[in-house]
Amino acid sequence: MRPLPCRSILLCVLIGPAAALATACGGSTASNPHGADSGALDASNVDTGAPPIDSGVVVDSGVVDDDGACPGVSGSGTQATHGNPPVVSNLGGPVLHSPTVVTFTFQNTANAAALQAFGATIGSTPWFAEVLGDYTATTSTPAGLSVAIAANADATYVDNGGVGLDGDAGAGSGTDLNGFMNQAIANAVAAKTIPAPDGNTVYMFYFPSTTTITGFVGPSCQAYGGYHFNQVYADGKTPIYYAVLPDCAAGSPYELEALTVAASHELVEAVSDPAPNTGWSLDTSPYPDAGTTPIEFRNDPWLSLGYGEIADNCAGTAFMLDGGTVVQRIWSNSAATGGHDPCVPAPAGETYFNASPDKAIYVANVGDTFTVDVTPFTDVARPSWQLDAVDYSQQLAANMGGSGTSYLQFEWVGGVVRSDGVASLTCVNNGTQAHLKVTLLAQPVASQTSEGAQMWPQAVGAIYSVDLSQQTAMTPGQNTAAFVWPFEVITPATAAQIGVGSSGIADMARRRRFWEPVRR
Ligand SMILES: [Zn+2]
Repeated sequence: MRPLPCRSILLCVLIGPAAALATACGGSTASNPHGADSGALDASNVDTGAPPIDSGVVVDSGVVDDDGACPGVSGSGTQATHGNPPVVSNLGGPVLHSPTVVTFTFQNTANAAALQAFGATIGSTPWFAEVLGDYTATTSTPAGLSVAIAANADATYVDNGGVGLDGDAGAGSGTDLNGFMNQAIANAVAAKTIPAPDGNTVYMFYFPSTTTITGFVGPSCQAYGGYHFNQVYADGKTPIYYAVLPDCAAGSPYELEALTVAASHELVEAVSDPAPNTGWSLDTSPYPDAGTTPIEFRNDPWLSLGYGEIADNCAGTAFMLDGGTVVQRIWSNSAATGGHDPCVPAPAGETYFNASPDKAIYVANVGDTFTVDVTPFTDVARPSWQLDAVDYSQQLAANMGGSGTSYLQFEWVGGVVRSDGVASLTCVNNGTQAHLKVTLLAQPVASQTSEGAQMWPQAVGAIYSVDLSQQTAMTPGQNTAAFVWPFEVITPATAAQIGVGSSGIADMARRRRFWEPVRR
């Protein structure tokens, strides 16, 4: 057991339509995908693995999409040499194989029958096999089981952190969640509704909208849309892997879709990383630790965006299964390292285009201006797009209750600073070189990711590749296609402290890859 219990959460409260899925994470440029963001419905979220972008920012009314005026595609047939995408790794903890899904509902859980059907069948869908294919064998997944609790849920539950763990500060009062779940499982075992826990089962608890679960990072539906974690069964030894799924979209016509997206997120993480951040995940160990190898330096900017487990890395995306059930797209190491959209399945018609900076970590003094060389790349010949540079650390600071201090100032060589303050460069395409002048405005502060990892003081920049003309397949007529690539800026003092040289951490892949068919 880790000294700091890090539980994985569904970072966005999903309150979106199935065919135009939106999240409550919007509201500002590069809105934090992992903060306690209970902002208004954003009907223009990014459906590509990038943190959501509010279209009101990128679609500046004074800026006309000028793709038509951009030079055509060179069609060289090779994907431009670009940076290494983050890669999740197996950190040595447990991973489930062909798990059993057990769905728990209450009398007052909305859509209980549909959620039971979801749990019964999701493990045998092609989606399940595809999104977990990089991480665990999922063949012969048994049919899911259901437990209908013959009572309404209580108004408030408190997650005390599980057996043997300290409770979280400010948890408040309410029914002990872990004790309740343990007993509910034991009751169902005694009634022969389900077999005894075997350590290869995920227990999904669906609460009604009238229930609030506290004791985690904050109240359910305000701080998170769901999470998974583990505790020990009453036998004192068998692990119970569970997901907590509050109903955050009651009254919306998309109430069920929001829940199945959240459930799909937590389920695949509970399978691939049942003891959070010990299985398949970016390394989220708190600093200081042994995590000062280059791969962890390269991953670090992504952690600031809320990346961690395989569903976190694609939060805000959605995919409709045959039959209409809506689930989340999930991070694929093989797609990412192959130069394709890492969030699979990619809906038909979507193309992948992104732009990577030449380093993961830049070293600068406050007041310094330096140049970031940015390489746009795509895996298919496609129209040009635009790059927007965003001070993500400003958003992080604001979400942590700070004043929203600006840490980074941007100016693209040959670009513009729009009326909304975002530095933008139009007409980039595969292999064009873009140059971003970055000024470190203020002393960075340590950020805290969704996973609770304390990291060194850093400013975080995010480069968004945006195509105003390409609608995502999930949201025709509404979404703007966009992808993101972050980088961080640290001071020389921090660099010396954590073992980074004065030139930072370069992060460019060494070889070109030929264009390949878009992964489906
Ligand atoms: Zn997650």
